[in-house]
Amino acid sequence: MKYRYILLGAVCSLLLSCATTGPGGRKSFIAIPTSQEVAIGKGMADEVAKTEKKLPDPAWQSYVNDVGQKIVNVCDRKDISYTFTVIESDQINAFAAPGGYVYFYTGLLRMMDNEAEMAAVMAHEISHVVARHSIKRLQAAMGASLAYQLVFGDQGGQAMQAAVGIGMGLLFADYSRQDEREADKFGIYYMQQAGYDPNAAITMFEKLAAASGDHQANIFESLSSSHPETAERIANAKQEIAAEGTLPPGLVLGRSRYIEMRNRLPVPSKTTGK
Ligand SMILES: [Zn+2]
Repeated sequence: MKYRYILLGAVCSLLLSCATTGPGGRKSFIAIPTSQEVAIGKGMADEVAKTEKKLPDPAWQSYVNDVGQKIVNVCDRKDISYTFTVIESDQINAFAAPGGYVYFYTGLLRMMDNEAEMAAVMAHEISHVVARHSIKRLQAAMGASLAYQLVFGDQGGQAMQAAVGIGMGLLFADYSRQDEREADKFGIYYMQQAGYDPNAAITMFEKLAAASGDHQANIFESLSSSHPETAERIANAKQEIAAEGTLPPGLVLGRSRYIEMRNRLPVPSKTTGK
C-alpha cells in the first residue's frame, strides 16, 4: 500500500514537472504558469456565470464545497484555491476549468444516490486539475504564438481574452483517453483517501453508461459516448480497487445525507427529448 502511494506520488510529480516545464528542446512548448492558469480559469468562470444559472440554494453550494474540499485536502495540488459551483440545468454533466473551478449540473446530481458517487465525479474532475490536463489541452489548442504572447507580452490583455475564448470552446471537448485514464485512476485513489467507498465510482460509471444509451448529449464531459469505452473504465476501476487489497474500515457512501440534499434539488425544468 505504501509502495503504491509512493509510486502514485512519483507518477504525479512526473506529470506535474512535465506539464510545467515541458519536454526539453521542444521549442513549441510554452508552459503557462499557475498564475496565468488561474487567471484564465477566472475569466472562464466569469463567462460561465453569464451564461449558466447558478443554483440559488446556499445549502447545496456549501454542500458541494464541503465534499470538494475533502478531496482537495488529500490531493497533490494545493497551490491554488478550488471553487465548486452547482449549475441549475438538466444536463448530465460536470467539468473543471483550468485553475480549480469545478462545476456540477443538477441533471447529474439528480442521478446520484449517495455522496460517494458525487465524490467520485469530484475526485475525477480535481484530478484533471491536479495533472493540469485542462491547461495542457488549452495550450495545445492556442498554438505556440498565442501562448507566447500570453506568457511574454500580452498587449492590453488580448491574449488572455483569446485564451478564455478558446477555453470556453473546449469546456465540453474530450480529453485524451490517456488523460481520462489518469483522472479515473487518481480519482479513485483520492476519493478513498478522503474516506469514501471507491465502489461508488463503479455505480456512477454504470449510471452514465445507461444514460448515454439514451443518446443524451453532454454526458459528463461527453465521456461515456461509447459503451466499450465505459466498459473499459469500469473494468479499470474494478482493477484499481482490487489492487488496493482489503479496503480500510470506515469508508462511507453517505447515502442518507445525500438523499436529503437530493430532495432539495429543483424538479427538472423539462423532460429531455431525444
Ligand atoms: Zn474527465
